[in-house]
Amino acid sequence: MSAHSGPSFSTRPVLRVNLKTVKQNYNNLQGLVGKKTKVAASVKADAYGLGAARIGRTLYGAGCRTFFVATAGEGKIVREAVGENATIYVLNGPAPRDLTLFFGNQLKPVINSILQAYAWAEATENVKRPPFSAIHIDTGMNRLGFSDEEFEKLVTNKKLFERLKVDHVMSHLACAPDNKSAYNKEQLQKFRKQSSRLPVLPLSIANTAGIYLGDAYHFQMVRPGIGLYGGMATDNIGQEVSEPVASLMAPVLQIRDLQPGDKLGYNSTFVAQKNLSVAIVGAGYADGIPVNWSSTEKGPIGHATLQKKRVPILGRVSMDLTALDVTYLKKKPRIGDWAELLGDNLESDAKAAQTINYELLTNIGSRVRREYV
Ligand SMILES: *Cc1c(COP(=O)(O)O)cnc(C)c1O
Repeated sequence: MSAHSGPSFSTRPVLRVNLKTVKQNYNNLQGLVGKKTKVAASVKADAYGLGAARIGRTLYGAGCRTFFVATAGEGKIVREAVGENATIYVLNGPAPRDLTLFFGNQLKPVINSILQAYAWAEATENVKRPPFSAIHIDTGMNRLGFSDEEFEKLVTNKKLFERLKVDHVMSHLACAPDNKSAYNKEQLQKFRKQSSRLPVLPLSIANTAGIYLGDAYHFQMVRPGIGLYGGMATDNIGQEVSEPVASLMAPVLQIRDLQPGDKLGYNSTFVAQKNLSVAIVGAGYADGIPVNWSSTEKGPIGHATLQKKRVPILGRVSMDLTALDVTYLKKKPRIGDWAELLGDNLESDAKAAQTINYELLTNIGSRVRREYV
């Protein structure tokens, strides 16, 4: 303990989420697509690590009425947060063990294949008011969705189609971040052609990056995720209307002065060449700090922010702790000071770790206290 840290000092890292900015991001995206298009929200993976319940409620407050999750379990959490007036689609579709979750929480499955269609039709056969569903057409990503062959089986089987009570038709873009990719247009054309064979609206194909491809991709609904959470989605970030919302903070636990030859951390991968001042902060890879931010023989890779200055990470990032070089800060940090490990530099930080901003957010661990401002 230190005299400086005070009674509220905790060694637990904190993710500070600015809900006002989440709301602003939602409004900005809605402004971009205009009134004819509804902005739904992708809140899968615990709203990209930010907390699906609070994010869901915030977006509902901003006017969002349609939410996408990956699994039925995620859907239940969002349902409890946003109430019964919202629509919740489960992207990965129905499965036997999840049926009670679907029926108990009025979750709508996204039907991704003819097998899922048969299974859902059968599962809902004796259900009084089964949920509606969405159809996912594969237009070239070859991940989930109806293939051409399967889609033929769907459009020619009236009885099956009616049983599914389809109220949304969607597809997903593979190359949306790159507006020069010809594949976007190919997928768009295929989506137009296939979706026109079903008597259903709304249609959607755009994630955040897809929104920036222009009006033709908006249809009646768009499904952004990362853009709501302040992450950049395209190769041209100058055009994007989102602001950062999340900041991962770790408390300084100890300050240590190293002399030339002193070794630091696991495997002694860092050896001081001169006198250094090091702050040990309370967050590590279990909290989502990438091990790839560990320094190498060639020098530092990852950075944190302390006293508004970028400071390099030294040595190996460990499970619960990370060491920062604070030698050149104006003031020596004190116990309980906060270092920011993720924040406004999400994209360059991701690059340094050889990953993507999405992964940095979704990897933020459950030990990190979520604080909403
Ligand atoms: C995750 C996901 C989205 C949202 O993507 P972002 O790139 O985060 O905007 C939209 N649609 C589908 C099918 C998804 O899986």
